[in-house]
Amino acid sequence: MAGQTTRYHGSCHCKKVRFTADIDLSAGTTKCNCTWCWKQRRWGVMIEPAGFEALAGAEHLVGGERGGFCRHCGVNTYAFVDTSAWGPAFGGDRVAINIASLDDLPIDDLLAAPVRYLDGLHDDWWTPPAETRHL
Ligand SMILES: [Zn+2]
Ligand SMILES: [Zn+2]
Repeated sequence: MAGQTTRYHGSCHCKKVRFTADIDLSAGTTKCNCTWCWKQRRWGVMIEPAGFEALAGAEHLVGGERGGFCRHCGVNTYAFVDTSAWGPAFGGDRVAINIASLDDLPIDDLLAAPVRYLDGLHDDWWTPPAETRHL
């Protein structure tokens, strides 16, 4: 993945889980309308595993080293995702970062980042949904 990355620090709410993620926000972020994403108001970004480091607390995540929600505070942090079936631009593991779990991301930088909308609700991931204002 080309582009300039910035190292951000992330954590769950109770701070048992901590990590760093090297993110190029100009490469885009995603919001999806599926029920899983909607119920957590998810705003996500996907990075290469090489740009990710788990600093502490993976044992507190529901998926262990693969990531997920903190068992104690319920906040979603990061998750390793196998993208092998997603098409030629993907393949192998990526790390899906919950942007809201980043602690030192300037809001202006986030607002400047492109957002790609996914129609996960209709299993049509590559076409933006007709309505996105609520996401
Ligand atoms: Zn926690
Ligand atoms: Zn979704």
